[in-house]
Amino acid sequence: MEHREVKTWSGEYMGVPYEIRQWSFSDGRPVWNYYLFLNELQLPDAFPKLWLRGKKLKLGDRMTKHVYYEYDKTIIGNLEWHCGCTYYDKVSGHDGAVKIVKAGCDYAHLWDENRHYDLMEIEHGMMECVESLHNATTVLKRCLYCGEYVTELNEKNYCEGCKDK
Ligand SMILES: [Zn+2]
Repeated sequence: MEHREVKTWSGEYMGVPYEIRQWSFSDGRPVWNYYLFLNELQLPDAFPKLWLRGKKLKLGDRMTKHVYYEYDKTIIGNLEWHCGCTYYDKVSGHDGAVKIVKAGCDYAHLWDENRHYDLMEIEHGMMECVESLHNATTVLKRCLYCGEYVTELNEKNYCEGCKDK
């Protein structure tokens, strides 16, 4: 059995859930990724256009089983990723569940080959990306009490309807 260690860190920055991942190539070179979880309830303006229909990947004349998404043409393409977004996946949304897209980038470009990254740098990159999302569209906040997404929360992170709880 062959397996590799993968480390993940997750949390929320400015209300947006993220995941940072570190793993390594078979030759031991470390690779970092970070991902944002884009939720339809949190991004009411931007989400409809970033829930994409997958396109079948063609190899020469042959259709493959692979599907790709043209996310670069959406708001995702305009965010401050490290060397652009390289990952798009629908991680929730089947059978009526809330729709969530996981989008991310990697630190494994030619440019990164001789660079050493640490968690703080990746965190910093992720934070810039979240900030660019906030600058690009409405990002609602989730009430800690009821879980609804709203524009304003009080100092306890409760919405207007939950403020007296
Ligand atoms: Zn509430």
